[in-house]
Amino acid sequence: MNIQENLNYIKSRVPKHITLVAVSKTKPVTDLMEAYHAGQRIFGENKIQEMAEKYEIMPKDIEWHMIGHVQSNKVKYMASFVSLIHGVDNFKLLEEINKQAKKHDRVINCLLQIKIALEDSKFGMTFVEASEVLKSEAFLQLKNIQVVGVMGMATFTENENQIKKEFTLLKTFFDSLKSYESINFKPETISMGMSSDYVLAISCGSTMIRVGSSIFGERNYN
Ligand SMILES: *Cc1c(COP(=O)(O)O)cnc(C)c1O
Repeated sequence: MNIQENLNYIKSRVPKHITLVAVSKTKPVTDLMEAYHAGQRIFGENKIQEMAEKYEIMPKDIEWHMIGHVQSNKVKYMASFVSLIHGVDNFKLLEEINKQAKKHDRVINCLLQIKIALEDSKFGMTFVEASEVLKSEAFLQLKNIQVVGVMGMATFTENENQIKKEFTLLKTFFDSLKSYESINFKPETISMGMSSDYVLAISCGSTMIRVGSSIFGERNYN
């Protein structure tokens, strides 16, 4: 199977209103261009430097999504072009994104990463922390960011019931946030689902899936 066939297969399983982020981390630009020529315009990366390098050399109608953990001191390297940051998990980071976005006279869209998995290792805010941020006065002052929804990663397990439970929790939380809608919080997007669980995620209410290995093949980290 080549990249174009993989993309077509995924699209055949996914309703049209679902946004597909092609997760291209570690993959060479030639692979990304193959997806681009097959019509893909949204790519997700988890390292800011790698994303910035690919952005420089690739066509400018691509939307770049940062899906990895973000270090505050590196926000400046993507602030001019990133279109959505999925992994925002604290208020200080929102402040830094706001500051860098302002320098470029932009509004940067963000998702709050919510911890839904059992493992301690997964990043993310608790439901309580996220709601506290969204209803705070300080948040409303951040004019150069827009929180457009939430992102979550399920526990790495074969147990479908566990995964389903976590996705459902995130969807329920997302629905409960609608009452906090404000000038810079527009709840539209639930980013959940990867290669192994995107069909399940969509059935649980996902609006945006992040698919890597099912498009580009297994990653080689060496
Ligand atoms: C790598 C990654 C993905 C894609 O994973 P696949 O299993 O290859 O589809 C999705 N989301 C995040 C946050 C990732 O880091």
